[in-house]
Amino acid sequence: MRHHDSSFSELRRILEWEFVKRGRVVLAVPAFNSSRECFWCGEINRGLALEDRVFHCPPCGFTLDRDLNACLVLLKRAGWVPPFQCACL
Ligand SMILES: [Zn+2]
Repeated sequence: MRHHDSSFSELRRILEWEFVKRGRVVLAVPAFNSSRECFWCGEINRGLALEDRVFHCPPCGFTLDRDLNACLVLLKRAGWVPPFQCACL
């Protein structure tokens, strides 16, 4: 486990260095529950199992590929504001 942690730290250090070298900004955001959080309304879907590849939010009905939803949640946590709005809100 310790080896895994140090490998991840090293990978992160290299990626940060490569991005900064190219003039990019690197932001670290907490990943906790990112695959269970609804990108649209922020609800946590605790019923989502690891094998569920599609994220669905019962309260608001938002449905999207699990990984894509998690990616959008992480972008939002980093301060990204989506350039679109749902017509149903
Ligand atoms: Zn939702």
